[in-house]
Amino acid sequence: MPMLTRPDPTEPSESTTTEPVVSLRGVSKVFPNGTMALAPVDLSVFEGEFLTLLGPSGCGKSTLLRLVAGLLNPGEGKVECRAGKIGFVFQEPTLMPWARVRDNVRLPLELSGQVMDDVERRVDAALAAVGLTDFAGHRPRELSGGMRMRASIARALVDEPSLLLMDEPFGALDEITRNRLDADLLAVCQARRLTVLFVTHSIHEAVFLSSRVLVMSPRPGRVLADLRMDEPYPRGDDFRTSARFAETTRDLMQVLTQGSGGGL
Ligand code: ADP
Ligand code: MG
Repeated sequence: MPMLTRPDPTEPSESTTTEPVVSLRGVSKVFPNGTMALAPVDLSVFEGEFLTLLGPSGCGKSTLLRLVAGLLNPGEGKVECRAGKIGFVFQEPTLMPWARVRDNVRLPLELSGQVMDDVERRVDAALAAVGLTDFAGHRPRELSGGMRMRASIARALVDEPSLLLMDEPFGALDEITRNRLDADLLAVCQARRLTVLFVTHSIHEAVFLSSRVLVMSPRPGRVLADLRMDEPYPRGDDFRTSARFAETTRDLMQVLTQGSGGGL
């Protein structure tokens, strides 16, 4: 079976429900200065998918994520998000430098105004999920870049979202740290049954993480290819070093470089 297959966009993959968690219908975005960031895009994201947006810098990936999060309004078209709660992780960890890791992670619960009797349990669970239990009392400057990003992910998880939006979260990290975070992220997503919309311009990262990859054209972003990754989870280092991984990476590279003239 080939690693890369083109799903019928109207059909959910196995083990998902039929109702998409996120759907975009003819969604485009032109900024007030006239920049067309996103050409009309149709997209359905189904429960449990790990969907990666892969495309060159400036092609509208962050714009698409912000539209899904409701941080931006579309120029045209319709964005529907049926996820209960959404967690958002940005490229920069954006932690409060003066506050301990634990207080940074607790912040969304304090801001939400929800009355909860299990705040500290949730904070503990989020810290444990990213392996930061022993660093709860540290301040951000005492952490490595990778650990700061772990804290940022814990903060996104603390309100127990069902959908996680991640905008190049590991782009600033060295490759070894990034690989470790990718593996740990997959474990968290499996354990919490999260639906993930992930942005990267790393082909390797897209192949390792995703159940589905959306390849986008240069600006204004269009969907060039919508590819299902037929590799079961859990995935580990054996997948990263496998012939299947190398083959899929090469195929994806071809799709990207062929750009709009591509055969896929
Ligand atoms: P990506 O995340 O793929 O790098 P973005 O979604 O950030 O791309 O941006 C897509 C295009 O829209 C880029 O050319 C960017 O400069 C432009 N852009 C992004 N935000 C704004 C804005 N608020 N006003 C004007 N142009 C913007
Ligand atoms: Mg971006």
